[in-house]
Amino acid sequence: MRSMRKVLIVGGGSAGWMTAALLGKLFHGIYEIELVESEAIGTIGVGEATIPAIKKYNELLDLDENSFMRMTQGTFKLGIQFVDWWKKGESYIHGFGVIGQDWEWLRCHHYWLQANARGSARDLADYSINTAASLANKFMRARVDMSESPIGHIAHAFHFDASLYARFLRGFAEDRGVRRTEGKVTSVEMADNGNIAAIHLEGDRRIEADLFVDCTGFRGLLIEGALQTGYEDWSHWLPCDRAIAVPCARTEPLTPYTRSTARDGGWQWRIPLQHRTGNGHVFASRFVDEAEAERQLLDSLDGEQLAEPNRLRFQTGKRRKMWNRNCVAIGLSAGFLEPLESTSLHLIQAAAIRLVKLFPDLHFDQATIDEFNRQSDFEWERTRDFIILHYWATEREDSELWRHCRSMELPATLQRKIDLWRAHGRIFREDDELFAEESWIQVLIGQGIMPRAWDPLVAIKSDAEIDEFLGNIASTIDRCVQVMPAHGDYIQAVCRAE
Ligand code: FAD
Repeated sequence: MRSMRKVLIVGGGSAGWMTAALLGKLFHGIYEIELVESEAIGTIGVGEATIPAIKKYNELLDLDENSFMRMTQGTFKLGIQFVDWWKKGESYIHGFGVIGQDWEWLRCHHYWLQANARGSARDLADYSINTAASLANKFMRARVDMSESPIGHIAHAFHFDASLYARFLRGFAEDRGVRRTEGKVTSVEMADNGNIAAIHLEGDRRIEADLFVDCTGFRGLLIEGALQTGYEDWSHWLPCDRAIAVPCARTEPLTPYTRSTARDGGWQWRIPLQHRTGNGHVFASRFVDEAEAERQLLDSLDGEQLAEPNRLRFQTGKRRKMWNRNCVAIGLSAGFLEPLESTSLHLIQAAAIRLVKLFPDLHFDQATIDEFNRQSDFEWERTRDFIILHYWATEREDSELWRHCRSMELPATLQRKIDLWRAHGRIFREDDELFAEESWIQVLIGQGIMPRAWDPLVAIKSDAEIDEFLGNIASTIDRCVQVMPAHGDYIQAVCRAE
């Protein structure tokens, strides 16, 4: 075994510092880890909403959640509200976590489908503690001693300020031996075997390493600029290619969810933080022009505008290989789905953890590289399918974007999932798919894709038993939500606690 000596992370956005923090924590004293970033180039400056899996990353780093909330001006996130996606005037919440509880062999939603068809079910939202609490602007963390209660099953993620998050991680990584170098990469030097040998920085500096982690954002300086790995374009399924982001003053109440509102040529996000609200309009430039998209965004702010709009361009898709030779792309250099389900930071954390699990030696054997790429492709493709579902499952005909999305041909993997759902309301989470059954179910039902039937096993219960089962779940959730504190009050308490 020829051991790795040095890892060089190029880029200091969320991807660079998340990777550096994890490698620093695990490999401190084993490998030399250096991160190069350029303040003059800066970072993308967005990426403020997460999914519950980020708690796993925080646990790996042993981060204290309360100090993390304080330092990043964070708020809690129980799900995403989708407004006007199915039809104008309709909305639903994709709440994290479970819906009701399993009964005998079946998931709760099968009983709900049957009761709903008889007109005796409440809204699906009433069977999810996350969604019911979101609608009431309430929050508390899951209590481990309450596993019998819905409160034991609350699943939360965070909203936070991206620049404060990067600063927080930088401190964490530097404390664990990661060396930071300021400088602009001017060229990449290749070795005779086709690997990357070194990078050159302005001012005639040269940095060698064994493994290079490309975190240079959309530029993909190493993975594409030097190695010309190629890009798989997914814009025929995910047509948005631009975004405008702008912060505004915080407004009350502090909602424990992200809001995503469908617009004529894209959609708009609203992310509540302690010190401000983040807003952005993601849109397809072939369906709406930039000035109009910006006007729509600025006209809809619910607080005083705090900064000039940040205008961004992207192409949805992914790098053909996220690990090529001695270079691993993590973050936007690996690809971009789009921010609809807040998955990018998760994909960064997943890639960093995958790199640790498949950490190479100097042989860089192909089987290791292929496995990294296979797992990454699976995760990205299945996450992509979930996002495409939101665009396709619409009845909107009022603008070109939605007419395009309604009629687009779906990836075979997604079509298969929808066909299975339509038959008997069944969804299966395969292997390491990111989104659980409950996530798919809420989006499908929330956007009007109802199955023709439910699982035939529902028939083993009488209608009265089903009504009692569902009634108990909804009334227990009602009672739990009543005793939960307001989200804003809970944050104040968390941020006061030392
Ligand atoms: P960047 O932040 O662009 O960092 C690139 C780094 O490389 C910088 O430090 C830069 O200085 C450095 N660099 C580049 N070139 C050079 C050079 N020549 N020399 C030296 N250094 C260089 N993700 C979520 O999870 N949730 C969200 O809500 C979310 N919202 C988003 C909204 C939009 C509109 C967009 C576009 C993305 C969103 N994302 C979101 C994605 C998220 O922003 C990114 O995944 C995350 O910020 C990581 O970016 P990065 O570090 O890969 O790139």
